[in-house]
Amino acid sequence: MIQSASWLAISPDSDFSVHNLPYGIFSRNGESPEVGVAIGDRIIDLTAAAQLGLLNEWEGAVSVFRQSTLNDFIALGRPAWQQLRAVLQRLLTDEESPLRAVAGQVLVPQNRVQMHLPVRIGDYTDFYSSHEHATNVGKLFRPDNPLMPNWKHLPVAYHGRASSVVVSGTLIYRPQGQILPAGAEVPVFSPTKALDYELELGFIIGKDSSLGKPVAAADAEDSLFGCVLVNDWSARDIQRWEYQPLGPFLSKNFATSISPWVVTLDALAPFRTEGPRQEPTPLPYLQTSGAFNFDLDLQVAIQPADQPESTLCQTNARYLYWNVRQQIAHHTITGCNLKVGDLIATGTISGPEEGSNGCLLELTRGGTKPVALQGGAQRTYLLDGDEVVMRGCATKEGLKVGFGEVRGQILPAAELF
Ligand code: CA
Repeated sequence: MIQSASWLAISPDSDFSVHNLPYGIFSRNGESPEVGVAIGDRIIDLTAAAQLGLLNEWEGAVSVFRQSTLNDFIALGRPAWQQLRAVLQRLLTDEESPLRAVAGQVLVPQNRVQMHLPVRIGDYTDFYSSHEHATNVGKLFRPDNPLMPNWKHLPVAYHGRASSVVVSGTLIYRPQGQILPAGAEVPVFSPTKALDYELELGFIIGKDSSLGKPVAAADAEDSLFGCVLVNDWSARDIQRWEYQPLGPFLSKNFATSISPWVVTLDALAPFRTEGPRQEPTPLPYLQTSGAFNFDLDLQVAIQPADQPESTLCQTNARYLYWNVRQQIAHHTITGCNLKVGDLIATGTISGPEEGSNGCLLELTRGGTKPVALQGGAQRTYLLDGDEVVMRGCATKEGLKVGFGEVRGQILPAAELF
């Protein structure tokens, strides 16, 4: 199917082609949030479409569309997602489509709605699966021994904080906490002076797994609904003081931003690609063979208040060393269960080329080499008023599947008590 196959006018530049059809939660004019699907610069109001009889071929309960999260829809399972995708594609491509006569009642302009957090996230796990990122960051902390001995044997991760995962556009307060100044032996209390972003992808779990039963790598994608862009905001000075021996805590729990549209695995299927060769060969439960990475172009830009946007990073998800099958197999090998709506993030995605660093810590070599912005300003880390914008899209043979954006602007630290 090619991009222009719809009777609806869709810009060839749009992230939201007939092939994409990502799910999100929107509301208009203060009305209740509900489920929609992005198409071009509009949203398909699924409740309205069902009420007009356009979804009669779909066998799921339409009550799942009148919800403030996607969880109930996701819980219906892959056959229901795939059947609805096929119905929507027919409505959008068939010249005789009954949608044409009622488009004004069903298609809502995206610029007239508010988008909400798409999923009720029970648990959030953040991996550390980019070899380039782990090596670059490791060099800053341990120049002679950048990769820890476990890194090539298992996909390293930590359990993150689900309550502070927020949708794109949510303002981000500068966090404050304990920081050890250079050369000092005792910490001071201060707003972070090293506020950073991390460019990541996040997979949304689509099926509960059973406590005590590991999910095999070969079956892991059965557990996936779709994918979002993730900005894992990080306070590097707080992280540096707190992270040993149990890993990041307050340096990453204040906010994690995600894009509002969840792109399904079906939409991403044409963009599968093999990941890097893994040497040494992982243990059997982590072995996969096939095209389980995704060829997705990713970008980070920064826009200071009243200044033009500057692109700071261009990279690709195909560089990730550990794929999502391996992440899920590892996550569940103890018997830990996954639940519908859980968020599994990849970790910062960097690449081998110049300009492909997925965070400022890497790009500015630990804050020692400022980066120049359009308009003459410089940054080592983020200043108040800066807005960070991440984008992602895949293109191939006339197909384009994009994620839209995840944005977040930095506010000054909150007043204490
Ligand atoms: Ca991260």
